[in-house]
Amino acid sequence: MEHTISRRGLIGSVAGLSAGVVGASMLGESTLAAVTAPGRRASLRIAHLTDLHIQPERAAAEGVAACLRHVQAHASKPDLIITGGDTIMDSFEADEARTTTQWDLWSRVIRAECSLPVLSVVGNHDIWGWNKGKSRTRGSEARWGKKWVCEQFARDKTYASTERAGWRIILLDSTQVDKDDANGYDAFLDEEQFNWLDGELKSAGNTPVLIVSHIPILSVTVFHGIKPDNKGDLKVSGGLMHTDFERLRALFAKHRNVKLCLSGHMHLLDRCELDGVTYICGGAVSGGWWKGNHKTCQPGYGVTELRDDGTFTYEYLPYGWVAREK
Ligand SMILES: [Zn+2]
Repeated sequence: MEHTISRRGLIGSVAGLSAGVVGASMLGESTLAAVTAPGRRASLRIAHLTDLHIQPERAAAEGVAACLRHVQAHASKPDLIITGGDTIMDSFEADEARTTTQWDLWSRVIRAECSLPVLSVVGNHDIWGWNKGKSRTRGSEARWGKKWVCEQFARDKTYASTERAGWRIILLDSTQVDKDDANGYDAFLDEEQFNWLDGELKSAGNTPVLIVSHIPILSVTVFHGIKPDNKGDLKVSGGLMHTDFERLRALFAKHRNVKLCLSGHMHLLDRCELDGVTYICGGAVSGGWWKGNHKTCQPGYGVTELRDDGTFTYEYLPYGWVAREK
């Protein structure tokens, strides 16, 4: 192992993440400090677990537990877990009782099976009741919308940032109400979050930046299965990839410190590079929503190692889950 990580109390800035870290806040720590022997390179190993979709059916909780055990069994164990959104199967269209069941399952598994700090990204399925008809909500419930998931993650905002081992880690909230359909969503940053991100990148200066969003900012997999329409054009739905990609690309070009953008949502694995930024869509812990593989993607998770010279490695690791009938 190239490095050791100590859990000393805290250095570094923690912006917007006052109580924002489920695991870390449970552990009473705010950040990790890298301790590096002379001549050795500091690094941070992160397990990126996205699209867990925990539910009572198909032994999903056992699957998540198996994945967490796999993560923690590595000879060089990750220092940190980032969950990439869609923590639960769905609360967007679910009633209060079903949503409670799923969050309880998540809380039990993470408490019983995870000894690492956890940072969490909000996914579209983690938002409660935006489809009012199907969820039988009114919109006036105390935990309606993004409030419930914020409560679960012990956060006051859906987006957050922290600094660890010489990297700034930014967690974005991709999911906004579809302007044409109040029961639906599109992927973009609202003005408040976009301005906050601009400030974060500005204040990061030369510090390398990792951005984690649930929905990809840029992805190749969004074209998977899309056929040309009657005009011969390939059209990507606004719920599949950030519709403000061009605006974000220009923002990254202005600050030049974003190295890696990780995402989920597609349950597929891809990697593309543009203007010096690498975009990786990191599969799914649940594979095909606990029914096996999704297309070519096995249930798995990513491990990325962030080095203090701004470079990184990434590897996708299936954890051997076999789908259950029920
Ligand atoms: Zn999703």
